[in-house]
Parts: sequence; C-alpha cells; structure tokens
Amino acid sequence: MIRAIVGANWGDEGKGKITDMFAEESDIVIRFQGGSNAGHTIINEYGKFALHQLPSGVFYKHTVNIIGNGVALNIPYLIKEIETLREKGINPNILISERTQVLMPYHVLFDKYEEERLAERQFGSTKSGIAPFYSDKYAKTGIQVCDLFYPDRLKEKLRQICEVKNVLLKYLYNKPLLDPEALFDELMGYREMIQPYVCNTFDYLQKAMSENKNILLEGQLGALKDPDFGIYPFSTSSSTLAGYATVGAGIPPHKIDKVITVVKAYSSAVGAGPFVSEIFGDEAENLRRRGGDAGEYGATTGRPRRMGWFDVVASRYGCQVQGATDVALTVLDALGYLDTIPVCVAYEIDGQVTQSFPVNAVLERAKPVLEYLPGWKEDIRGITDFDKLPTNCKNYVLYIEKALGIPVTIVTNGPKRHEVIRR
Ligand code: GDP
Ligand code: MG
Repeated sequence: MIRAIVGANWGDEGKGKITDMFAEESDIVIRFQGGSNAGHTIINEYGKFALHQLPSGVFYKHTVNIIGNGVALNIPYLIKEIETLREKGINPNILISERTQVLMPYHVLFDKYEEERLAERQFGSTKSGIAPFYSDKYAKTGIQVCDLFYPDRLKEKLRQICEVKNVLLKYLYNKPLLDPEALFDELMGYREMIQPYVCNTFDYLQKAMSENKNILLEGQLGALKDPDFGIYPFSTSSSTLAGYATVGAGIPPHKIDKVITVVKAYSSAVGAGPFVSEIFGDEAENLRRRGGDAGEYGATTGRPRRMGWFDVVASRYGCQVQGATDVALTVLDALGYLDTIPVCVAYEIDGQVTQSFPVNAVLERAKPVLEYLPGWKEDIRGITDFDKLPTNCKNYVLYIEKALGIPVTIVTNGPKRHEVIRR
C-alpha cells in the first residue's frame, strides 16, 4: 500500500500528526519536497517535537525514513534534529537520496537579503533559503548530495557558482562576497555528517515496492502554497501536491493507492497573500489561542498564524488538486467555544457569487459569503467514536464532507497521537 499525506489548505493542517499515526503501520516514510521552512508538530510518549527536515516516521524503530530527491536538504539542520532525537533515546533510521540537493549557506543569505531588499513588498519568507535553493536547482546551478563525494568536480562547480553570486552580492545587495575555498571546506564537513545515510534510494524503493512494503509519502505545506495551483507568488517554491510525490520520491504515478488530504476545521495561514475567510482582532485571537496544541503559532518561526473560518471554496479546490481519496479533518476540538460557526461557502467577486477558486488578481477582490452552523459548546477531546460526538459537531463534519465531496475518514480532536476518530 502506498499512501500520500498532503495538505488541502495553506499548510499547518496537522499533517505531522496524521503522518505519525500512519507511520506506525508503515515500513517507509518519505519526504518528497520542501525543506526546513515548515514544521510538523508531533506529540508522543517521548515528548513534543517540531520536525522540519526529518520525515515524521522517525519515532518508530521499524520505519525507514527517506529524504527524497525533491527535498531541499539543510545538512546542519538535519544533523541537529537527529541529535535532538538521540538525546531522547530515539535512534532514527534515515536514508538520504544521493540525488537530493544541498541547501547551501548562501541560499539562506540570499533569502534574507532579498526580503530586506523588497522591504514592505516582501513575501514573508521564513528565510530558510528555499526560494534561492529551488531557483538554483532549476537553473542547473545546484549541488546534489552525490557531488560531495567527487571533490574535484565540486571545486570547479563552486568556483563557477561563486563567480555569478558574487556579482549579485557586490552590486545588488552590497554584502560580503563568497569564497569558494571556504565553501568547499564547509561542504567537506557536511559530507562527513551525512555519509552514513546516503544511498541510491531509487533502487531501494524499487525493491521495497516489489516486496509490497507499506510506504507513506509525506507532504509539506498545502495545496494553496503550490507554485502552479496555489496563490503564486505567495506560494512556496516546490510542489506541495501528491502528484509531485512521484517525482520527489521516485515512485511511479499509478502506484499511489490513497491520497489522504488533511483539511483543518478552520483556516490558518502564514506569510502574505490573499486569504478570503480571514478574521482579525479579538475574533481571530479567540480562535488562535484555541487552535493547535498551544495556539496557532508557527512551528518554525513562532509567529502568530493568520486565522480564518473554514473555506469551502479553497478546501474543495485543495482536495481536487491533490486528487484526494480521503479527507482527514483536523483540530475539530478548537471550535467547541462557538455558539455558531461561520463557514465561507462561496466568494463574492464584483457582485458575482462563485464557488470556483480564481487566480490571485481576482481572488484579491473576493469577499467571503458566510453561512452559520450551530456550535456544540462542548469539549470533545477524548471521544474516540464518531457517533459519540455531539450532534451539532457530527453535523459540522457531515456538512464539510458533503461540501468537499470526499469521504472524511479521519477526524482529530486533540494534538496527541491517539486523539483521533477513524470512520
Ligand atoms: P503540519 O505542518 O500540517 O504538520 O501542522 P503543524 O504541526 O504545523 O500544525 C498543526 C498544529 O495542530 C500543531 O500544533 C499540532 O500539535 C496541532 N494539532 C494537530 N491535530 C490537532 C487536533 O486534533 N487538535 C488540536 N487541538 N491540535 C491539533
Ligand atoms: Mg506546520
């Protein structure tokens, strides 16, 4: 069985927890895109973890965790995360594709310099170097993990890369220049760090598939941050879609059996960009402090997330572009304080009502058309049986299921591993 777990919204839907849950029954968990720019929060018997670079299967002894070729690999960050786990007595099984590209120290610098240059026009980047990394990858000036093992070729590559980067550093950003020799030495240090994990993960997966292993593909961020189908350019720089998992991990497209699409019971977003159902002030703060495990604050940056009501238009579209087979509806417990729950059911754009998710130029003018569902005014944590949920709560789930047109097979009602209802 091969399953993908991906987000339908703007990210932070609770994919980490769902992945952790499914990892228990998986042989292999693979990260296929993104880097240390987004975080998954996992709470289990070892404690609370915000994983950025590692796949969410690292807590299980029987699970092999693969960093796929589509990932932006920040090597010192990865090693730091591995060490944090070791301190808690967890020894994760990790493999890194030799084709994965290395996030370079200068990618982080360029990310920062560019946001500084843009000033108030900035995108709200996490400054993890992701946009410069993927720009270089597709401009064919990236460094693959395998390059670290061929020093002469690497030296020459670095010399050529620095030639171009230094022009920008000098004339556009007015910042210190790069030294190819120093970079080379730094990369040799990286090589030491990751050597034990590097292999041909493609061959490994071919074999695993022939043995019918259970494989989990773990997405980062959500459909609305996809560079093609999301709110470009307020998107991320690698595809967040299940379809890309085939490329970023090395799995044939027809092999993915299930696309479990994680949808949050309300909306949250980080960074700039259109967000139609957004709420502000006290209304937002009341929801923010009840969301997540300790409020809706970024796992990477700690900054307060933007908040909004459930958006049917965006979430349905998100499920469609993911090719959802199942929906996991998360953080339902956070809504227990509301008398009535607003839901954005359509967009009004220049006097016209639509249910189709438009391009940004139009989306920016969209106003939410709200409907109000009755709240349940109850704490639903601890309930494990769907039928035991308060009637209004069940109706909220059924309403969303109908609106999305995809079966909601998982509902989560708390941040911990077993706070989940399977239907
Ligand atoms: P991801 O990026 O999609 O993995 O999501 P994050 O981990 O960044 O954000 C989701 C937040 O919600 C985290 O703080 C989780 O601990 C928390 N969480 C996940 N599921 C639930 C749930 O059912 N209820 C509550 N209250 N929090 C949840
Ligand atoms: Mg997150």
